[in-house]
Amino acid sequence: MSGLTVALALAAGLLLTANVVLVILFRRHARRLAKMRMDFIAGVSHELRTPLAVITSAADNLADGVVEQPEAVREYGELIRREGQRLGALVERILLFSAMKKPERRTPHPVEVGPVVEAALRDADTSLRGAGFTVEASVDPDLPLALADAEGIRRCLQNLIGNVLKYGGDSRWIGVRAMVATESSGPEIQVIVEDRGPGIDPADLPHIFEPFYRGWRARSLQTHGTGLGLSLTKDIVESMGGKISVSSAPGSGSAFTLHLPIAWP
Ligand code: ADP
Repeated sequence: MSGLTVALALAAGLLLTANVVLVILFRRHARRLAKMRMDFIAGVSHELRTPLAVITSAADNLADGVVEQPEAVREYGELIRREGQRLGALVERILLFSAMKKPERRTPHPVEVGPVVEAALRDADTSLRGAGFTVEASVDPDLPLALADAEGIRRCLQNLIGNVLKYGGDSRWIGVRAMVATESSGPEIQVIVEDRGPGIDPADLPHIFEPFYRGWRARSLQTHGTGLGLSLTKDIVESMGGKISVSSAPGSGSAFTLHLPIAWP
């Protein structure tokens, strides 16, 4: 066999091996996507089914006259409103997810962060109090204006606070801080949402900002969710010119930080 034939045979062998490797990688990727899609559908169905069941049975009790006392009727009304809002938030989250995938930018402008933090905590007040959470909030009184979008920051905080409600564990503590911090790129505004829950598994940590990704604890405990919250939060904060980071270790809680540019540094 001539040298050329050997070289050609080797090249053909290499090409064949590369093809086989590519096919295996493609199959693995397709399987992972299919599993994520199934998990997402299961998550959304569960998310839809639970509030719908509560609304239907509350409405049945009202319609059948099982509940008549004015106080009880009011409580049922509250329940229906709360679960209706939960359904609305889920639908909005899915719609927002599909919209955020288009290259759409929020126009950053000078924003006072303190009132936005207060508004987000007000939004979550009933749920936090209802679940027995202690809230520690602090906003630096000399906080400069951020170059951001108030509605965007509020949505990010709603998602992060919502996650503390779900994953914050038995300590029932949440901290929200806003301050100036100096990073290697210079000073910036940081809004930190912390909990003292079980923390995030190191195997999950690199993936939690991926769409549809759910940590093993959330999956095994069947905590309601779609795996979209953090990916949306990341999209929103990045569309304002900021970023998000997380620090967490099993047993030591989690801290999510929104990094926002200062309007006039
Ligand atoms: P979802 O809550 O619907 O699962 P998210 O995108 O909001 O989706 O979160 C992704 C995953 O990150 C969660 O499934 C959970 O495993 C993990 N996670 C998020 N926030 C926290 C937190 N505060 N503490 C522990 N784990 C968290």
